Amino acid sequence: MKFRPLIGNAHQVAMNMLRPISRKYDEQEHAYPKELDMLAAMIDGLNESGQSQGAGASGVRATKEESSGTGGTRNGTNLASVLSIMEMCWGDVGLLLSMPRQGLGNSAIASVANDEQAERFKGVWAGMAITEPEVGSDSASIRTTAVKDGDEYVINGEKIYVTAGDRCDAVVVWATLDRSLGRAAIKSFVVPKDTPGLTVERLEHKLGIRSSDTAAIRFEDCRVPAENLLGSPDVDTAPGSGQGFAGAMATFDNTRPLVAAMAVGCARASLDLTRELLGQAGVEIDYDAPTYTQGAAAARFLQLESDWEGAYLLTLESAWMADNREPNSTQASMAKAKAGRVGSDVTLGCVELCGSVGYSEHDLLEKWARDSKILDIFEGTQQIQQLIIARRILGLSSTELK
Ligand SMILES: Cc1cc2nc3c(=O)[nH]c(=O)nc-3n(C[C@H](O)[C@H](O)[C@H](O)COP(=O)(O)OP(=O)(O)OC[C@H]3O[C@@H](n4cnc5c(N)ncnc54)[C@H](O)[C@@H]3O)c2cc1C
Repeated sequence: MKFRPLIGNAHQVAMNMLRPISRKYDEQEHAYPKELDMLAAMIDGLNESGQSQGAGASGVRATKEESSGTGGTRNGTNLASVLSIMEMCWGDVGLLLSMPRQGLGNSAIASVANDEQAERFKGVWAGMAITEPEVGSDSASIRTTAVKDGDEYVINGEKIYVTAGDRCDAVVVWATLDRSLGRAAIKSFVVPKDTPGLTVERLEHKLGIRSSDTAAIRFEDCRVPAENLLGSPDVDTAPGSGQGFAGAMATFDNTRPLVAAMAVGCARASLDLTRELLGQAGVEIDYDAPTYTQGAAAARFLQLESDWEGAYLLTLESAWMADNREPNSTQASMAKAKAGRVGSDVTLGCVELCGSVGYSEHDLLEKWARDSKILDIFEGTQQIQQLIIARRILGLSSTELK
């Protein structure tokens, strides 16, 4: 109930500001959507005044009340974030990912930065750089190095597929302090884009989310202050500890529900337009009658919509658990796995149901089918989410179940 105004406002923005420029920036890949500057300034204003309730994708910093667990059961900023992201992605996923100061790196900063870092990186637009030419799903194998030199770290390596990597002000880079020490030595560093030695090498051409820039970035003797390391600098190699890496992985508990919310929003857009188009074609959808009493198109639509609802509810649950300081790793992965798969199934299912209208560039159905695929890939693929869920349910470690 208390989030109705937030949902309503985000929906208005999606309908009146994102939808009208959605096709334009899909066609003009790599052109900067300058219309977003005004929108981002509005979100900044809401954040400054404390009225945002978590609007935008910049992630959530636990309040003192939330951290201490004294807030009781509450619907907080995590839930607000996923609800507003769903609405914004009903407008356009690529544009949401291009929103200044709302990068996935911002979520990492929000979830692990100390108070000093949170203050210093306030207002910075941060991308997230984990993936490397030789390393994707197996993020524990990264090769980018960070070597301590006095009160600085020197970073060397190559990162690829960095969302907003060209437009952002800084990147949160995963690097190893010592490859021989394994996962425990992996740390994340905030690297400002103007750091000497940082080069944006190229931008990718993509299937979907074409309004969002995706960059390859090289780091050659990039020096950052030691205070730019997020979390603890200690390398704890005690058997079974894996604390450093576990800390870095924990940021995913916050970001996976956000990506799930993107898939839910995009799929909702497809369902809404499909219902409208089916209605125009004379197909009646009766929510009170069993599907076997309805036509094939109506029955298929209801099947897609019920699958969507499962993804929606799992996404809300994982965010609600974070608001209430309940461990949500399993649910965050469940939400991401379900929503990622449902996003693709629903958007392609809607293209199928609407036939040539769905496939044509006249409407946005074909675009949403392209945009949704990435949401089942980044922040951990479908297969990786299923692996994580299986490990947790069976109580097996990453070496026991690969
Ligand atoms: C548009 C776009 C934006 C991106 N943005 C970012 C970003 O901002 N930051 C960032 O760091 N990265 C980003 N990525 C990279 C993304 O996170 C990786 O593509 C993803 O982690 C998968 O890695 P990979 O592509 O190397 O595939 P691989 O890891 O090589 O996997 C290939 C296939 O094998 C499957 N697979 C792998 N291991 C297993 C296993 N153990 N069991 C079963 N199946 C397995 C995978 O699920 C996948 O289907 C982006 C990618 C794209 C396309």
